[in-house]
Amino acid sequence: MAGLYLHIPFCKQACHYCNFHFSTSLKNKDAVVAALLQELRLQKDYLSGEPLETIYFGGGTPSLLSQHDLDLVFNEIFKRYPVASGSLEVTLEANPDDLTALKINELRTTPINRLSIGVQSFSEADLRFMHRAHDATEALASIQQAQQAGFENLTIDLIYGSPTTSHEQWVSNLKQAFALNIQHLSCYCLTVEPKTALAHQVKKGVAQPVDDEHAAQQFELLMDMTAHAGYEHYEISNFALPGWHSRHNSSYWQGKKYLGVGPSAHSFNGTSRQWNVSNNASYVRALDGGALDIGLEVLTPTQRYNEYVMTGLRTKWGCSLLKIKDLGFEAAFAEGVKPFLEDGSAERQGDVFRLTRSGRFLADGIAAALFAEEEAG
Ligand code: SF4
Repeated sequence: MAGLYLHIPFCKQACHYCNFHFSTSLKNKDAVVAALLQELRLQKDYLSGEPLETIYFGGGTPSLLSQHDLDLVFNEIFKRYPVASGSLEVTLEANPDDLTALKINELRTTPINRLSIGVQSFSEADLRFMHRAHDATEALASIQQAQQAGFENLTIDLIYGSPTTSHEQWVSNLKQAFALNIQHLSCYCLTVEPKTALAHQVKKGVAQPVDDEHAAQQFELLMDMTAHAGYEHYEISNFALPGWHSRHNSSYWQGKKYLGVGPSAHSFNGTSRQWNVSNNASYVRALDGGALDIGLEVLTPTQRYNEYVMTGLRTKWGCSLLKIKDLGFEAAFAEGVKPFLEDGSAERQGDVFRLTRSGRFLADGIAAALFAEEEAG
């Protein structure tokens, strides 16, 4: 079983914290869609015939695709790629300002059965600070309209830790999500990424930096409130009501194969990772000439171990000592994990190591402390 990711590299406006690959000029959209169709043709054997279990439109802003664009893409996918029997999970990331009643009804006629709505907050002050293209009224209306139109599988993104988000506002955002009966939440801590507008504003003193203590307190509130509302915390940033996990993202974390098409998209076939050029014009030019502009790396055992530790520790599935033994790093892992077992940030159950509640906010740092170095020479 495998996954297909499609990167749609266009946005109406640049959110101040964002460092994803996108363009705010839509003039090359048709050319990028045509190149994406060409890439789907060229890459049809990448997954060695493994049937697709999930399809995920990410970006950028995939809700900028027209009905016609989506029809072309689905035709190409279903013509070239086998699909797993049973239900296919097809997710589209959508921004609230795109989700008009007309758009939602159009989306209902496609194979898309899961919407990931980029809400981020229900507060005007937060949305303005982040420079989102929607307001709080649109955030709420988009969810209600999607539900009324029959979308039964919704996930929303929320951001905590912003200097504009008081604890009261964060609690109110979560209560709003629960009241709307959203099946799945992805909640991210605001980070100030280099070369973003937010980084520039913080440097100039126009915006406050993210306060780690403030963010950690909101992460605690998040864990308490989601648990109380019946959500399972199955990955550091992801929470699901029973039966509503993201199958697409879970397969990344479990090391399954996936093909990524579109500018900047990454693919993994079990042994190597490859990525497309992060430039729309270069992407289109290469595919116009019938080729791909990609980088490729064959993962060494050390890289496979480091990736396994980094992703495994972020999830409820944890890291299996048997798997680590297979990769040849059992002794290094056992030694490295000791201080975290002792200070209570990690725990062992049988063969599996997981982070405890107190370790979760520090997941990336703990994983980094367990990484192995490549042997010299
Ligand atoms: S809509 Fe999403 S991808 Fe586009 S700029 Fe905002 S956060 Fe980034």
